Amino acid sequence: MKVVVCTKQTPSTTAVFSIKNGIVSWDDPGGKPNVVNPWDEYAIEEGIRLKENHGASDVIALAIGGEESKEALKTALAMGCTGAILVSDDAFAGSDAVGSARIWAAAINKIGDAKIVIFGKLTIDDNMGVAAMMTARKLGWTPLTFVSAIKSISADSITVERLLDDGKETVTAPLPVVISVVKEINEPRYPSFMGIRKANRAEIPVWKAADLSVNGGTGAAASKVDWSHIFAIPPRVGSVEMIEGDSIAEQVKILVDKLFEEKVI
Ligand SMILES: Cc1cc2nc3c(=O)[nH]c(=O)nc-3n(C[C@H](O)[C@H](O)[C@H](O)COP(=O)(O)OP(=O)(O)OC[C@H]3O[C@@H](n4cnc5c(N)ncnc54)[C@H](O)[C@@H]3O)c2cc1C
Repeated sequence: MKVVVCTKQTPSTTAVFSIKNGIVSWDDPGGKPNVVNPWDEYAIEEGIRLKENHGASDVIALAIGGEESKEALKTALAMGCTGAILVSDDAFAGSDAVGSARIWAAAINKIGDAKIVIFGKLTIDDNMGVAAMMTARKLGWTPLTFVSAIKSISADSITVERLLDDGKETVTAPLPVVISVVKEINEPRYPSFMGIRKANRAEIPVWKAADLSVNGGTGAAASKVDWSHIFAIPPRVGSVEMIEGDSIAEQVKILVDKLFEEKVI
């Protein structure tokens, strides 16, 4: 059984960005290094556990993006993925989520024989949370989102626990499936020293548009979504009034009167 784990290189969670003329400037993230999209660490860990505990033969990390995305793939290899593939082509620049899903589907089909594809719940930069659903649609596979535990896997089905707002549910679906995972699913491991050395020596294949049979449009021209105006929410303006009084009891009385006046209580 092959497993594919999708992972993205994103800015650090502590990076600070500026917005200039309606465009996010990615050039200066305040000196913070890029990282594996934090949600994807859980996806990678779960993929590796499918090999360790459920007999998966291959766990392939897959990224779409520029050369810098190889760093995320190397982390996945260092953690224990058995292979990594970068899909990178100028023709894909400006793809919207549907275009991206077409690229994922084509790459997953080219890898072949995958039974489970694992996505993180969300990317911390684009923040759409739609990648798993859309890719499942393009592949014609069953989507299982917000998975908090993989309960069992048989030759032709999988049973998972899904995290809901106010509970959990257990769901069984036929393979192949596309799942997205939440952080409750596991505790991601740190890459081992040997793993890091091995990953640094790994040659990561790069697939171009011509290597894939993408079904439908990709890139800016095919994108239906126009990122026409991006702006930061203005900071909240507040004011502070210090309450004077001879004793704490008097200060409390003044405060309570004011809260009544403002109809807060
Ligand atoms: C080649 C390319 C060009 C793009 N160009 C633009 C652009 O010009 N402007 C713009 O605003 N947006 C662009 N996007 C982002 C795109 O519009 C979508 O936002 C995105 O592909 C899907 O949604 P998300 O990143 O919000 O993923 P989510 O649905 O939030 O992420 C869920 C999971 O999907 C996986 N994932 C997400 N992205 C990748 C990736 N690249 N590789 C591997 N796994 C991933 C991870 O497992 C992640 O946890 C581009 C995307 C790609 C791939």
